[in-house]
Amino acid sequence: MKTIPYSRQHIDEDDINAVTEVLRSDFLTQGAAIPSFEDALKTYCQSEHAIAVSSGTAGLHLLCLALNISKGDRVWTSPISFVASSNCALYVGATVDFVDINTNTGNICLHALKAKLELAQKTNTLPKLLIVVHFSGLSCEMDRIAELTAPYNITIIEDAAHALGATYQNKPVGSCVYSQASLLSFHPVKSITTGEGGAITTSDHAFAEKLRLLRSHGITRDPLHFKNHAHGAWYYEMLDLGFHYRLTDIQAALGTSQLQKLDNFIAKRREIAQRYTTLLQDLPLILPTYNHESAWHLYAIQLKAPLDKTRKEVFDFLRHENIGVNVHYIPIHLQPYYQGLGFKEGNFPQAEHFYNRVLSLPIYPDLTLEQQDHIVAKLWHILKC
Ligand SMILES: *Cc1c(COP(=O)(O)O)cnc(C)c1O
Repeated sequence: MKTIPYSRQHIDEDDINAVTEVLRSDFLTQGAAIPSFEDALKTYCQSEHAIAVSSGTAGLHLLCLALNISKGDRVWTSPISFVASSNCALYVGATVDFVDINTNTGNICLHALKAKLELAQKTNTLPKLLIVVHFSGLSCEMDRIAELTAPYNITIIEDAAHALGATYQNKPVGSCVYSQASLLSFHPVKSITTGEGGAITTSDHAFAEKLRLLRSHGITRDPLHFKNHAHGAWYYEMLDLGFHYRLTDIQAALGTSQLQKLDNFIAKRREIAQRYTTLLQDLPLILPTYNHESAWHLYAIQLKAPLDKTRKEVFDFLRHENIGVNVHYIPIHLQPYYQGLGFKEGNFPQAEHFYNRVLSLPIYPDLTLEQQDHIVAKLWHILKC
């Protein structure tokens, strides 16, 4: 039997046609497919701008650059995330620290944030940037986070890699109501895919311009931005030290096609989540509270403690049954590289507690009821016997 993955893409004929159309066209990159994908994204997200980039990670790096984060600056994020959420700060020489999580949601804990801010003010170690992570596709409590950080003049970025298609207070995640910008990822396990790819949404015009410049070597071809007189029609200027983080037109066309199906994808994910919540409620598990605003990138259950079956046993059993469970995430501060920076086990106890119990069950648009029933039956088998 083929393994049921924890997530996977849905690709149909429309997607394939959109890609082959670009392949037959004049421009495989730097053509019209990029701005049309960006337009579709900004419309969907209700933001003023969308800037497509080669990956979510590249987008996080660009965000740190565009915010002028550098050596001596502090950046805070969640320890329960993919390493890219904090690595971006290290890329620009900044110092990383983490805010412990709320184990009910996997998102940063507001009490921990408040206490850490108060302490940081006393010790003169306030961060310049806070990167919040919408774990599993459920938005953080952005209004409260904005309120808590406002007195300290801290920029907020949303790592919304899990959360395209989610809403917060009935507005799309990515609309940046409470943040400077949001970061999306289009890796195949995420809400929509472009193979690899990502995007930044923002409603700050100058900031968007800066991101576009940095995405493409720091080079401009716009005479309005030239420092010197143009030498001729070939002329361009490099104004800043940028990178090559562009998406291709092949990918952008796929993205535009995928975006048309996003609401259906999310509807399917929500159905699956709701059904897990019903079918698993009598097992010794802490289930994620069903929330209709979440994009349900992950369905992350936690094994109740104390247990006769450890998480490893349950994981190994399900993997043996060809069920592609996963663990999101190994706390970033426990990674050897971060331990090398001075982080220690015990630094973020809620994150570590969560990590020891959490398990991601398969959830994606094409997961069938039969497959879900099979997963549920195996969970009952291992947890009830
Ligand atoms: C996937 C992911 C990223 C990085 O996205 P890539 O497109 O793979 O570079 C960043 N943050 C989180 C939380 C993610 O899940």
